[in-house]
Order: sequence, then C-alpha cells, then structure tokens
Amino acid sequence: MSTSLTHPRPDVLAAIGATPLIRLRRASEETGCTILGKAEFLNPGLSVKDRAALAIVQDAEARGLIRPGGTIVEGTAGNTGIGLALVASVRGYRTLIVIPETQSEEKKQTLRLAGARLVEVPAVPFANPNNYVHVARRLAERLAATEAAGAFFADQFDNVANRRAHVEGTGPEIFAETGGRIDGFVCAAGTGGTLAGVAEALRARDPGVRIALSDPEGSALHAYYTTGTLKAEGSSITEGIGQGRVTGNLEGFRPDHSFRIPDGEALDIVFRLMREEGLSLGGSSGINVAGAIRLARELGPGHTIATILCDGAARYASKLFNPAFLTERGLPVPGWLSAPTDPLP
Ligand code: PMP
Repeated sequence: MSTSLTHPRPDVLAAIGATPLIRLRRASEETGCTILGKAEFLNPGLSVKDRAALAIVQDAEARGLIRPGGTIVEGTAGNTGIGLALVASVRGYRTLIVIPETQSEEKKQTLRLAGARLVEVPAVPFANPNNYVHVARRLAERLAATEAAGAFFADQFDNVANRRAHVEGTGPEIFAETGGRIDGFVCAAGTGGTLAGVAEALRARDPGVRIALSDPEGSALHAYYTTGTLKAEGSSITEGIGQGRVTGNLEGFRPDHSFRIPDGEALDIVFRLMREEGLSLGGSSGINVAGAIRLARELGPGHTIATILCDGAARYASKLFNPAFLTERGLPVPGWLSAPTDPLP
C-alpha cells in the first residue's frame, strides 16, 4: 500500500495499514535503544484490528464463503468488531457482534454507531460453552441456516487470514520503515495474529531478530512459553489482550523472550506517553511499550526495537482515565488526572 499522497483512495479500506512508526523519546532515552511504536491507532477504525478484519473478509470473499447482504458474525473484545463493521459497510454485509459485557462502553457505543448488532454476554472462560466466542459461532450457524443471504463466522482466533494480514502488511512495513535495521519486536497477544504474523515476516527477512511476548496478568501464555504449561494468574484491566490457549494464529510460533507486565507498570507508561509525548493510547499499548523497554534492557543499548500502539485512549476514557475506576482496583491515580486544572495561567 502506498504512503505517498499522489492519488485519492478508492474507499476507506484503502486507508487501512501503512501506519507510521514513531520514535518513543523517553523509552529510547532511558534505555539507550531506539524504541519505535507502530501507530495502529491511526487506522480508520482506530485500531490494529482493521488489518485483520479486512484480511478475514477478503479471504472469505475469495473462498466464496460470504454473499452480498450476508451477515458477518464475530466474538470480539470490540476492536475486531469495529473493523469488521466498517469493512462490512463498504462491502455490503451486515455485522452481528458478540462482546463480553466487561468491555468498555466506548467500544460498545462505537460498534452500535458503526451499524453492528450487538449481543452482550457475561465474561466467562473459553472452557464455558457460554463464552462469547462459542456464542458467536452458534449464532453464525443459526443465521446461516435461517437467513437467505447467509452468515459467515469470522473466527479471528483460529482463522489464519488474521495472521496473514501481519505477515504481508505490518511486518514488512516495519522492516521497510527501519531500512532493515531492526533488532527486536515485542507485543502482547489477544488472538496472537499480530505477534506471530510480524514475527514470521521479520524472521524471514532477518533470522537474528529477537521476538518477545509482552503478556498481561491473567494470561496463560507467559507461563506456557517459559515453563511449557498454560497457567493464568492474576488479572488485568487491559482489554483485547491475554490468552488462555494456543490459538490457531499462535500455532507454530515461539518467542525468544517473554515478559509478564503488571497493570501498574503499563499504566504509568500510558499516562507518561499522553502527557509527555502527545500519544493518547489504550492499555494494551502500555503493556507493549513496557515489554519493549524490558527487551531493550535485556539486549543492551544501541538496539532498535519496535512495538505496536494498538488503539487510542478515547476508547477507555471511562476506565483507564477515570480516577474512581482506578482507585477501586487499587491502581495509582496520577495527580494531573484527579486534580482539576486551572483554566487561567
Ligand atoms: N490490543 C487491543 C486493544 C486489541 O483489541 C487487540 C485485539 N484483540 C490486541 C491488542 C491484540 O491483537 P491480536 O489479536 O493480533 O493478538
């Protein structure tokens, strides 16, 4: 996809991807490395998941799995649903989104405004048949049997069209933007599409590149990659990341390093990036940048490390930036967030 502004885009889908890689000043200065964040919050649906949504729908079209007027059904923490809703609007489909009720109101409202039908379900583990992914799969089967235009289950966790979006897009973009001078890549995993996809693309171009998982509390992947056993402990207020199983998108993938990041460490970074570098980001970006700083410390000064800035702060105003929410969870509230600012100098 071209980044030069020499021609109009045929539609908004052509504006997905080709996001800028931005140097994170403080993280770079503190580690002596060059730490770069890929600004995925600049995609049209405002998250990294636009890439997977587009790839999944294009793949379904190519395989004849979806018909005009048909319904795309997905279980999602929100961002994939937002991406699917916008792709569906352009390509002439409908969307039915199943979301755990614990996800932010901002994401649910965005989904409704994007035209998705929303089914909220209690947040229960994957092993429970009422987990949002299983509910979505069953709804897709039912709609496929009852609606004339049919239905398609996007299946982002196990559909490897998701990972391919990053093998063919995100990864090569990072390699090209750094002129091939990239020593490490780190990010969290929800479906694992971004992590495994970027890793595959970078390793194919430079087998020496170090790949790291940045895992939130409550996820089983850090234990899996360090001890061989899927084991989850604790919990996190971050959304869209953390995983209890080896998804289809993670199959065959192994990181070289793995970090378990507490929420407090990630949030401190989110707040600092907002106040000091003009970057308004969501919680998973904080987990990612925290992981990049840890990888920088392991590799030592002089290395170039990239990570993903997945989505923006506005999607979590009522949570990460709400003093009452933070206090309730025993997390520190930065002074500037609780104190009203004086409008006069
Ligand atoms: N951050 C956010 C905010 C997300 O919504 C997601 C996707 N659920 C991710 C990170 C993780 O991306 P992936 O599914 O490619 O692992």
